[in-house]
Amino acid sequence: MQACLAPGWSPSPPVLVTLLVCFGVILLAHWMTRQRDFPGRDSFILLHLSSLWWMACASLELSVMSAECKMFLSGMAWLGILFTPTFWAVFLWQYVNSVRTPVPRAGVLALSLMPLLVWIIALSNPWHGLFYLASSGPIDDSPGAPVRYQHGPLFYATAVYVYLLMAFCMGVVVRAAVLSQGLHRRHYLGFVLVTAAPWTANVAYVVFGWTVFGVDPTPFCFAFTLVAFAWLILGVRLFDLLPVARHLLLEALIDPVLVVDPRGRVIEANPAALKLAGLQQGWQGRTLVDWPVFGADLQRLLEQHEAEASEQMLTLTSAARYYEVRVRWIERTTRNGPVLLGRMLYIRDVTLRHLAELKLAEALALSEERLSTISSLHEQLREQALCDPLTGLYNRRYLDEFFARELARAQREKLPLALALIDLDHFKRLNDECGHLVGDDVLKAVAQHLLDNLRSTDAVFRIGGEEFLLILPGADSAEARNRLQNICSQLAQQEIATRGGHQRVTLSAGLAHWPQQGQTLDELLQAADAALYQAKRGGRNRVCCLASNAEAGHPSR
Ligand code: GH3
Ligand code: MG
Ligand code: MG
Repeated sequence: MQACLAPGWSPSPPVLVTLLVCFGVILLAHWMTRQRDFPGRDSFILLHLSSLWWMACASLELSVMSAECKMFLSGMAWLGILFTPTFWAVFLWQYVNSVRTPVPRAGVLALSLMPLLVWIIALSNPWHGLFYLASSGPIDDSPGAPVRYQHGPLFYATAVYVYLLMAFCMGVVVRAAVLSQGLHRRHYLGFVLVTAAPWTANVAYVVFGWTVFGVDPTPFCFAFTLVAFAWLILGVRLFDLLPVARHLLLEALIDPVLVVDPRGRVIEANPAALKLAGLQQGWQGRTLVDWPVFGADLQRLLEQHEAEASEQMLTLTSAARYYEVRVRWIERTTRNGPVLLGRMLYIRDVTLRHLAELKLAEALALSEERLSTISSLHEQLREQALCDPLTGLYNRRYLDEFFARELARAQREKLPLALALIDLDHFKRLNDECGHLVGDDVLKAVAQHLLDNLRSTDAVFRIGGEEFLLILPGADSAEARNRLQNICSQLAQQEIATRGGHQRVTLSAGLAHWPQQGQTLDELLQAADAALYQAKRGGRNRVCCLASNAEAGHPSR
């Protein structure tokens, strides 16, 4: 240290050149701090300062006279020598990955450990001689002669660490060049070339002992590297280009886009938005709610929807057009959580699509209506197919379906079921005497009489000209006979009004019971038919039931 303080400074040309380069680096670093932000800018400036340290130590080493002092300054330089590739690696990694957030404090500490350790080792070399060997010394006896360093094992260990960092840097830029295309690829290839320059110089110095002014040429190469990087980053202006391109895109977009700040003022609007609102100038700072045409609607929509990102349908009836509005929150992440900077509204004219959807919905409704008409017509047809047109009673076609259902129910619920076959007496004679039309009127009246005497579970069918079938679910033989006899006697007393004056008619009925007189419809019909025959033979106007195994039935009146 004492030796260094001794006078002996000589402004030789190499010293002046080195000082000039130092001054250049200072100017460059200062200029960089005032440039537009780019990823890794902080590491890039720290990289300048590290290399400046290195250069300053190198220039001082050239200036001082004593070998001891030269070796001390060479030890001092190691802080810059280690920090330079460290910040370089961080900068390249941040730059190619577009990382704008600073390195966390723990990361900075971890990255500083090795440079500080090497610095201490280099400065303490006079005591251990493991960094530079004891044989290191001036190349000749001339005053201020450069020192020829004989490298020790710790020097080589440090060199390996530095080379690993350099290899990492190379890997980062080569990977970026391989993955990118066009302008970006050429940009990163420039980075690869610039990264290779100080590496080459350092290998030349360590392996082949190549020096500039008798010292390591690497710091001089770094000066070149810094200028080249600054030119690449700021000359190509990739990071200026993108915002301009994005702005141009916004201008050219046919859909309106608005940016609204948290106080509801419009701070950005593209030409499409201005056109839709019929505004030309003087809109800056106007609140959204005051915007013509859609301002109030959009404001209401924003108030309704406080979600981060949303999609809403907005109908501007005055303009007879339909718009879909997407709302995006613009946020800045801070330590205390996200802070809302504003909201971007992206408005898309979807009139054509919406009208098509409306037409489609209309067509669907129409076809649904038609479908329901068809199905009700179908129902009517089925009714007509199952009903007799003269009396409105069910016809034979429906009998099988109805009987199967009622039989299943009777079996399931273990209930009786009665079936009555009814035939009008001497109907042919009535037809002959009064005419068919009068006969028809009588048939209608009899059908109504039968319907009037039915319960909700019963059913009556017209199964022939003047023949009817009654099904009485749940009625046992006594109940069925009573009800039929009532029907029979009431009809006999009834005066039927017809087109040919009042008429009287009687009926004969044959009863059959499930399960005593048959299991199937055919068997029961046969039994009822036989009972009906018996009623006719017995003098008509009566109800008969054949005797069954279970019960002894008698024709009764
Ligand atoms: P019986 O007491 O033995 O039953 O004597 P009947 O005269 O009623 O004899 P039958 O049952 O054989 O006669 C049925 C008559 O019913 C024959 C036909 O003229 C008449 N007829 C059948 N269908 C209709 C119809 O739709 N309208 C009218 N007016 N008469 C019908
Ligand atoms: Mg008959
Ligand atoms: Mg008859």
